[in-house]
Amino acid sequence: MKIYISVDMEGISGINHPDYVMREGRLYATGQRLMTADTNAAIRGAFDGGADEVIVVDAHGMSGNLLVEQLDPRALLLAGEPHQPRFPFLDRTVDGMFLVGYHAMAGTQGANLEHTMTSASWHRFCINGKPYGELGIDAEIAAECGVPVMMVSGDDKLCEEACTWLGNIETAMTKQGLGRQSAFCLSPEYGQNRIYASARRAAERLTQREPFFLPEIPSPASVAITYKMVPDADRANVFGTKRLDGYTVETTYAHLSEMYGGLWQDYGITKKI
Ligand SMILES: [Zn+2]
Repeated sequence: MKIYISVDMEGISGINHPDYVMREGRLYATGQRLMTADTNAAIRGAFDGGADEVIVVDAHGMSGNLLVEQLDPRALLLAGEPHQPRFPFLDRTVDGMFLVGYHAMAGTQGANLEHTMTSASWHRFCINGKPYGELGIDAEIAAECGVPVMMVSGDDKLCEEACTWLGNIETAMTKQGLGRQSAFCLSPEYGQNRIYASARRAAERLTQREPFFLPEIPSPASVAITYKMVPDADRANVFGTKRLDGYTVETTYAHLSEMYGGLWQDYGITKKI
C-alpha cells in the first residue's frame, strides 16, 4: 500500500498565528518542529495501518519547511522549491492521500489561518462558480489520478469542510479555530496522537478495501480568481483569460491539474524510487 502525504503548515498542532508559518516569523523554527512532528505521526499511522511505502510532499509556501533530519526515515520526502507538477509521484500506483496541517478555505468564519493559496492577494477561488479551498483543489487533483483523500488534519473548520466535500473520511482535529489569528489549541502531543490514530484507521480501512469518496472531476474547469486589489486582477487579465468584473479573472482549463503543472504521468517519467 502506497500512501501520499501532503503537508501544509497552518493546520499543524499548536500553530495558531502567522508568526509560526512565515519564514521571517519569530516562531517559524518552532513551526518547523511542530510540522515535522505532526508529519511523523501521520507516517507512523500509515505504516502501522498497513502501508509499505509513504511519500511526503512539503506543500507549504515555497516548500523546504520540514526538518529532514527529524523526519521518519521510512518516508521519502519531496522538498525544495515549488514542484511542477504540484504533486510529483502522485499517480495511479498511489492508494490514498492524507492532507496534514491543512486549513479552511478563504473567508471561513472563525477558521484559524484560513486562506486559499495566498492570503496576500486572493479573496476567492471558484471552479465553475463553486468556491474551493486548498482541500477541494488538492482532492480534485488527486481524483484526476484516481487517488482518494482518506485523512485530513487541521482545525475544526477544516475538518467540517473535509466531511462536507469528501464524506466519511478520517479527520484529526488539532485545534478549534476562534478567528484568523487565534485558536483553542490542543497540546501538540494530543494533536499528534489524534493524527496517528486517524492515519492508522485510514490505512486500515484501505486494507479492508473500504471504498473512499472520489469527487467528480470538473471538466472543463473554469477557474475564477477574485483578487483583493484591482491592480492584481489587471495583471492577471492576460490573453486567454476573461474579466468577469473589476476584481475577478477567469481562465478555463481542460482539467484543474493543468493550472498546477499537470499530472505526474504527463511527464512520462518512469524512474523507480
Ligand atoms: Zn500553507
